[in-house]
Amino acid sequence: MSETQYDLIIIGGGPAGLTAGMYASRARLNTVLVEKVATGGQILITDWIENYPGFPEGISGPDLSDKMLEQAKQFDLHFEYGEVEKMALEGDVKSVMVGDKTLTAKAVIVASGASPRTLHVGEERFHGKGVSYCATCDGPFFRDKTVVAVGGGDTAVQESLYLTKFAKKVYLVHRRDQLRATKILQERALENENIEMVWDSVVTGMDGLFGVENVSVKNVKTGEEKKIAADGCFIWIGILPNTEFVDESLEMDEWNFIKTDANMATNIPGVFAAGDVRSTPLRQIATAVGDSAIAATMAEHYIQGH
Ligand SMILES: Cc1cc2nc3c(=O)[nH]c(=O)nc-3n(C[C@H](O)[C@H](O)[C@H](O)COP(=O)(O)OP(=O)(O)OC[C@H]3O[C@@H](n4cnc5c(N)ncnc54)[C@H](O)[C@@H]3O)c2cc1C
Repeated sequence: MSETQYDLIIIGGGPAGLTAGMYASRARLNTVLVEKVATGGQILITDWIENYPGFPEGISGPDLSDKMLEQAKQFDLHFEYGEVEKMALEGDVKSVMVGDKTLTAKAVIVASGASPRTLHVGEERFHGKGVSYCATCDGPFFRDKTVVAVGGGDTAVQESLYLTKFAKKVYLVHRRDQLRATKILQERALENENIEMVWDSVVTGMDGLFGVENVSVKNVKTGEEKKIAADGCFIWIGILPNTEFVDESLEMDEWNFIKTDANMATNIPGVFAAGDVRSTPLRQIATAVGDSAIAATMAEHYIQGH
């Protein structure tokens, strides 16, 4: 087992982690960022971003991710690839376990983000066989096909619009009688002739021999059930925090998002949280990077004081 001493450990390499890494290494803190899959986080599975300032013509998620990584790397940020499995946060020296390594530091920023929520209607059987959470990754497989999309928020609507570039028909199933998404996205979806809204409905199951063939939906007002013949089902019904590895001593809300104050400080001195993993009213790239700028700056102040 090897041991490394840093000023700051950042857990997660999405927009929040990369921004915190840029701020911290630019402030000359000896900083390591730990990422378990690939830097970029959820923006790697985002087709097109048109609400992040500085890109008036919009930018693809992977391109924005590349730019954030390039900028973070300019200031000697260290990277460790692996999954954080455990942490010991009490006291002045914080330990973070990654595989057989224990990293230690004076402060930690948890920026581990969130993952898509699942329907729990047996869709696991069709992972890679028609069920997807990522239009950018899987949309092109559905050229001239029919798909069901589930959800009513910004992500569901934006990604359904993207799917119409490939699929000949997108049924958008939403449990209410109006969308939650931003008005401009609602207008685009409702005007798009390749999108058919399935209001007041929930997905209750799916079937097929080798892949998805039918998606069952139930109208929550009338109780009526029907099967929609479809080749795929894209699910965008919210997110769950990536906090499985988080120490019980860290205060979380009822959904297991980490509680912080306005300085992004948690209840444990020297431990900060930023981005989608935080208990916050809005989870976007702009809020993730804003949180992280504060978290890294407050971590710097904390370290200077110790
Ligand atoms: C399909 C889709 C479309 C979206 N479109 C937009 C949009 O148009 N505009 C917008 O502003 N926002 C959009 N969002 C939301 C935006 O992507 C998120 O708000 C943002 O990515 C949050 O950044 P984050 O760094 O907090 O978390 P994430 O992006 O989730 O990154 C967290 C990182 O932490 C890593 N990690 C997790 N657990 C561990 C662990 N145990 N050890 C090590 N690493 C770990 C993950 O692998 C991941 O790379 C979209 C999201 C999705 C899914």
